[in-house]
Amino acid sequence: MGRYIDASPSPFHAVASSVSALEAAGFVEQHETEAWVPSPAGFVRRAGSLVAWKQGEDPLAGFNIVGAHTDSPNLRIKPNPVRQSGGLTQLSVEIYGGALLNSWLDRDLGLSGRVAVRGEAGVTEHLLLVSRPVLRVPQLAIHLDREIHTNGLQLNKQEHMAPLWADGSLDSAAFRGWIARELDVDATDIAGWDLMAHDLTPSALLGADNAFFAAPRIDNLASCFAGVEALVAAKAADATQVLCLFDHEEVGSVSRSGAAGSLLPTVLERIHRLSNSDGDDFVRALAASACVSADGAHATHPNYVERHEQNHQIALNGGPVIKRNANERYATDATGQAIAEQACIDAGVPFQVYVNRTDLACGSTIGPVTAARLGIPTVDFGMPQLSMHSAREMCGASDPAHMVAALTSFFGR
Ligand code: ZN
Repeated sequence: MGRYIDASPSPFHAVASSVSALEAAGFVEQHETEAWVPSPAGFVRRAGSLVAWKQGEDPLAGFNIVGAHTDSPNLRIKPNPVRQSGGLTQLSVEIYGGALLNSWLDRDLGLSGRVAVRGEAGVTEHLLLVSRPVLRVPQLAIHLDREIHTNGLQLNKQEHMAPLWADGSLDSAAFRGWIARELDVDATDIAGWDLMAHDLTPSALLGADNAFFAAPRIDNLASCFAGVEALVAAKAADATQVLCLFDHEEVGSVSRSGAAGSLLPTVLERIHRLSNSDGDDFVRALAASACVSADGAHATHPNYVERHEQNHQIALNGGPVIKRNANERYATDATGQAIAEQACIDAGVPFQVYVNRTDLACGSTIGPVTAARLGIPTVDFGMPQLSMHSAREMCGASDPAHMVAALTSFFGR
């Protein structure tokens, strides 16, 4: 899992890493603008999202769907980013999603994402990955911030999160030229970018007995990794097995490639048409389907045990977590819980059930979005972790294998 996460600092790279694994397993790429050719296993990508599938034997058996998200909170580079302050050149950033801002301080940061480049054949997308330290947000020395003891760390998103990029005074043309050299293209051909910073510390096992795993983006690349592994491992069955990896979950999923968009319904319909079934059969297939929305869950924090519901303590290495919320912030209902429990029992892995303290607001994920859009029974389900939305998160070292086994069993149910 560490290799997959380290190679995937942006949603676009997460899609590319997934595509490598799928192509190695014989999955055939289909393009949205072309007619699709029937094949036992295929995938289609749209920007930072991807849907992959193994065609089932019986079109009326429906779809066993696993969903996850490719994006994580981070710092995004503005269109004209260069600014000067104190004799240094910095980049202006937007904060993407609910980042724990303090976790981005004093880290050696790389840069990644995609750049649109004009050429003779029109605009093409280039993936950019700068894996050496080029950015850093230095924290103010404690001697200049005495109030930190009484007021805590106060960070203004506009003023205090701009990373250093260069010594002296450079301008936005210099940044554009630097990107062009990294990509080996002409600076005047660069039309725009979706670029973001990432922590360069590689993933690592942690603890006296290597019981833990520390990495950036465990939320939610751990689920993406487990979903890809499970789809590759799953034996073809009556139902069609579908893995969807969506961008933009951290900002609400409403986008061209997000879970609330047209990607999944469109792809399901096209997959179904490959089996020569009619429209009524498609609706019947949806009614027979089930969806696991795979996303990180909160393990009980040893320093804040009181923040967790007393009968729902969640252990690292305790197996995947079934997430419940009566106010539908998670989509799991009794039927969904039964589906998830059965997948774990069949796989021989432990499982846990999470619910928030009643006086704490609950987070959400793509589960309710897909459940509402498709009317498919959905369960919110994921690996327990700590430090969610930090630039560096952690989980149990044995939980990825639990998750892969549970999802493989769900795909083949
Ligand atoms: Zn997440």
